[in-house]
Amino acid sequence: LRDELEAFRSRPAVTADGRRVELAANIGTVPEAEAAAEAGADGIGLYRTEFLFMGASRLPDEEAQYAAYRRVAETMAGQPVIIRTLDIGGDKELPALELPKEANPFLGYRAIRIGLDRPELLRTQLRAILRASAHGSVKIMFPMISSMDEWRKARGAAREAMEELRREGIDFDRNVELGIMVEVPSTAVMADNFAREVDFFSIGTNDLVQYTLAVDRMNEKVAELYDYFHPAVLELIRRVIEAAHRHGKWTGMCGGMAGDPLAAPLLLGLGLDEWSMEAGALPKVKRALARLNAETCRERAQQWLQLATAAEVRSELERFRAELQ
Ligand code: PEP
Ligand code: MG
Repeated sequence: LRDELEAFRSRPAVTADGRRVELAANIGTVPEAEAAAEAGADGIGLYRTEFLFMGASRLPDEEAQYAAYRRVAETMAGQPVIIRTLDIGGDKELPALELPKEANPFLGYRAIRIGLDRPELLRTQLRAILRASAHGSVKIMFPMISSMDEWRKARGAAREAMEELRREGIDFDRNVELGIMVEVPSTAVMADNFAREVDFFSIGTNDLVQYTLAVDRMNEKVAELYDYFHPAVLELIRRVIEAAHRHGKWTGMCGGMAGDPLAAPLLLGLGLDEWSMEAGALPKVKRALARLNAETCRERAQQWLQLATAAEVRSELERFRAELQ
């Protein structure tokens, strides 16, 4: 089995009927980028930059951030690297920022909310990311967007940082793509509005499940209720992908669901464009995709979306997998 999986490492992800699928890796550090390149990833679908901040007693300055982002961009040698702006708060603490204690941190001062509240923090990071964009194929992604206002303010901050660099004569990719995470239900519901303005979506199922089902992703007591195969979650995913395609945009997924081989036929059937996961999951998902027929999955997905419970979805997917053996 190991050898069989090993064989997928150097091959691109292709379905049985020849559809090429973009499989990327989630990373938090420079060495993880090296491991992702080694594991045969097509790019980085999520660079969680908070690890650069969480380890430090002082905030990393523009130069320190630029150095890290540039190394990741260079390691991936022209393959896409999606750098997410700081997603602190919730379960992730940042000693250097002295964040207030909150009763409901996942519903509180978190992610883009902090970035918009502290423009200097966001500006410094955007400048560092933009400078790195001169050394590879870098895209910028904003976390936890829950309204068009937030997106437009974040985009405004990115445009200002670009204007600054232009004035200073500093090089960056003038066509850098700006996208958002879809991990709050309001954004999935309004995907059509967002799709007119963003360059891409990336669905964060880890948070989307927690916010859609009102189930804390960290709480063991309710872990059984936490399920990305819940029909309500699937309906949101469908909306997001379809809205993106209507407007000529693309949708990725960087939450845990993308790394689950059982979900592969469903996500392929819904038309997901890019899949990003822990590097260790890449061979299994590649192998699952290699057995699938994209057209068959498209038809089946319509049926799976009609099911009423997560358990039914799971058992139908298991049955489908068994049919293919
Ligand atoms: C997610 O919410 O699915 C996601 C990928 O982001 P994080 O796990 O970092 O919150
Ligand atoms: Mg998230």
